[in-house]
Amino acid sequence: MEQKQLNSMYKDELIKLLLSMGEPKFRAGQVYMWLQKKGATVEEMLNLPKPLRDRLGAMPFAMVRIHSRYVSKLDGTIKYLFLLEDGNLVEGVLMSYKYGNTMCISTQVGCRMGCAFCASTLEGLVRNLTAGEMMAMVHAVEQDGPIPDGSGRRVTNLVLMGSGEPLDNYDNVVRFLKLITDEEGFNMSQRNISVSTCGLCNRVDDFIKDAPHVTLSISLHAPNDNIRSDIMPVNRRFKIAEVISAAKRYANITGRRVIFEYALIAGVNDTYDAAKELSLKLSGINCHVNLIPLNRVKERALSGSTKDHAKVFMGWLLKRGISATIRREMGSDIDGACGQLKRRVILEQED
Ligand code: SAH
Repeated sequence: MEQKQLNSMYKDELIKLLLSMGEPKFRAGQVYMWLQKKGATVEEMLNLPKPLRDRLGAMPFAMVRIHSRYVSKLDGTIKYLFLLEDGNLVEGVLMSYKYGNTMCISTQVGCRMGCAFCASTLEGLVRNLTAGEMMAMVHAVEQDGPIPDGSGRRVTNLVLMGSGEPLDNYDNVVRFLKLITDEEGFNMSQRNISVSTCGLCNRVDDFIKDAPHVTLSISLHAPNDNIRSDIMPVNRRFKIAEVISAAKRYANITGRRVIFEYALIAGVNDTYDAAKELSLKLSGINCHVNLIPLNRVKERALSGSTKDHAKVFMGWLLKRGISATIRREMGSDIDGACGQLKRRVILEQED
């Protein structure tokens, strides 16, 4: 089997590796601390003997560089483009809230889910990101500026809502979640992390076991199969009833509220009937509906509902006892939506 990237490895895997290299076990602890807690490269591990650094330096390592950053004048949101070792670009975003900073990370280069409103999927799936690459993106942002006083951390919360479908890259995503929440590593609480899926129901039960305290967000975007299959091809594989029943299992087993994302698309899923049908289907589930103003994607014909109509739609849900809010738009001046920035940069480079 191909050797894993050093920064994708669990501590016990590093112990095995270093023992096999004839090194004492405590070296593995040092290496793991450098990699996972500090986000260091092998050259920076100054308490290791030079010959060991040379040997480790020759091993696979997930390198990620910040290619460019765009800072929103409206709210300080920073959009990052990361350059991967093979030349691919992926996006990440850092948003500041009162309670801390939330980083949005990508899990794949491109996406094969084909949602009709999303820019990330326009060119299909290029490849999965490794756990080490996801860790390296978090560390790159963590090191890219001052840490706010008191918090001791620049990245305090994480959402896996960038390009890609996390449950379509399940093993790497779960490995990443285990690494970033490890007390001996970055030590982020599972409770500060959300994973968003378009509804790959076959992985939800595994997810409940592997990451029971991580918030699950489900991109529902429609109240029935007719509308959902039109805008989300994944619905032909997993029907809305299956998606909702997986969401129920998550809420019941974990005791956590499941989040439904619902991007309001004018004339498609924002009617009174849609609100009524959605409320009936979600009634009794420990859930919250996050209404998202659809970001217009140049290549897509769909347009978002107006702000006023979004409020009306929210009112219809609230009246039926469904908890709902409209997501605050962040970074709308810097191509906030999935895949948009990367496309702009690539298209500009091609011009
Ligand atoms: N593949 C995962 C996570 C990535 S997308 C998923 O589908 O959930 C993160 C969220 O942004 C999803 O809810 C997705 O449907 C939504 N999204 C994609 N394009 C959008 C757009 N143009 N406007 C608003 N939301 C969008």
